[in-house]
Amino acid sequence: MPEPKFRVAICGGGIGGLCLAVALSKDPSIEVSVYEAAQRFSEIGAGVMIWEKTWRILEIMGLTERFSKIAHAPPDGSIEVGFDHRRSDQPEEGFRFSLAEMPYGCIRFHRADFLDVFINNLPAGIAHFNKRLSFYGRSLSDSAIALHFTDDTTATCDLLVGCDGIKSTVRGQMYTEQAERIRAEGGDWQSLLDCIEPAWSGKTTYRGLIPAEKLSSGHRALRAPMKYCGKGKHVVSYSISQGSIVNVVTFASELEKEGTPYEGPWVTECSQQELLDCFTNWEPDVEELLKCIDKPTRWGIHHLKPLPFYVTDAVALLGDAAHAMTPHLGAGAGQAIEDAFILSFLLTHPDTDRGTLNTALRAYEHARLQKATRVLKGSWNAAIMCEFNSPEYGDDYSRLGDAIRRQWDWVWESTPESDADEAIQWLARALKI
Ligand SMILES: Cc1cc2nc3c(=O)[nH]c(=O)nc-3n(C[C@H](O)[C@H](O)[C@H](O)COP(=O)(O)OP(=O)(O)OC[C@H]3O[C@@H](n4cnc5c(N)ncnc54)[C@H](O)[C@@H]3O)c2cc1C
Repeated sequence: MPEPKFRVAICGGGIGGLCLAVALSKDPSIEVSVYEAAQRFSEIGAGVMIWEKTWRILEIMGLTERFSKIAHAPPDGSIEVGFDHRRSDQPEEGFRFSLAEMPYGCIRFHRADFLDVFINNLPAGIAHFNKRLSFYGRSLSDSAIALHFTDDTTATCDLLVGCDGIKSTVRGQMYTEQAERIRAEGGDWQSLLDCIEPAWSGKTTYRGLIPAEKLSSGHRALRAPMKYCGKGKHVVSYSISQGSIVNVVTFASELEKEGTPYEGPWVTECSQQELLDCFTNWEPDVEELLKCIDKPTRWGIHHLKPLPFYVTDAVALLGDAAHAMTPHLGAGAGQAIEDAFILSFLLTHPDTDRGTLNTALRAYEHARLQKATRVLKGSWNAAIMCEFNSPEYGDDYSRLGDAIRRQWDWVWESTPESDADEAIQWLARALKI
């Protein structure tokens, strides 16, 4: 075997890490290893939705045949409902105030099935389990990075990509080290430390899955992705698994509590009564939906501040490690896939080798940071609007629908190909200087 052009260690095997591993593994000159803390790859939660731009990436990666089979229905590009928004916080029948339609609509999956497609496309032997990264160190003699795991084993790589989720160990070390450096220079180090810990968004979510046959045949949740909206709360439902299951996610926002400590575990089981109590006197559709969830789980939704950088010397952040966001645009996993697509495009480019690796990382950051930050902020704003808390739109239904829809404009403003092209041009310019 010839010497690889470089060795990439992917820390964390969620959607972001596995997408990157699959994309990089197509280049035989790059050695890829995935280090996952758990005993096996797995997803918690139930449904996941993606939009046209993410679908295009999966198409470029040659994965859509498989994804089509596990979607709610095979996506064909026709105009479909993204979300049907209703006013629902009253006991009598509610009303639609906005119908967002778009090519492909929202493409929906069972999370476990979604992750399986990436798992099944991983080459044998690159995944290592029970490997929780504890910290990383730099070699004095060469540019290699030493990875130290909690089981006292080590590994080395030339590039470490932190795909280790919202509580990222890699982000913690990266930002602590940069803060120490800035402190020594007399700069604003505290703002970097503030980027490390995720903050509670003030939102509590209940989640559950319902066999479709449990719902009455005319129920709207069987027909289209629904957002049942009320003051300070909303309920999302959409079908997955070829329409056989309805995924339900509810949100209750206490905006004044944003950034305060969250008491208790982030995810836990709770009673159906607790869920019903949260949505008393909502319209009949919502009542029926929630009564079908026997064992809901309660989630404290956390998010990150927008980060000022994603990369330092031979270390990069990707997915939730870089931009964990509230889920109101159904976009966190899609953004992780966009990160993986752009980073893999840059790393597999002929101009990228050990000598130019850090320039490629800066091109990645340039291509992704602003775009992902915009989606992170848009996610927050989308919930403010659909929970009728927007100072600008309130419950002005005539303007609200359009304003909510604009939060998804990033899906169509550029294509994966044009984003990749821009990143490569940036790399080429940087390498000439
Ligand atoms: C209620 C809710 C609904 C959502 N709905 C959607 C949706 O519809 N569409 C969408 O696009 N997004 C959605 N999201 C967001 C999406 O789930 C996340 O953005 C996405 O799963 C992040 O993937 P990731 O790979 O970056 O991180 P994760 O999925 O968190 O994966 C991180 C991996 O790293 C491992 N790990 C952690 N620490 C270490 C360590 N120290 N060493 C080694 N391994 C480690 C973990 O075990 C895990 O496997 C939703 C989120 C929530 C909370």
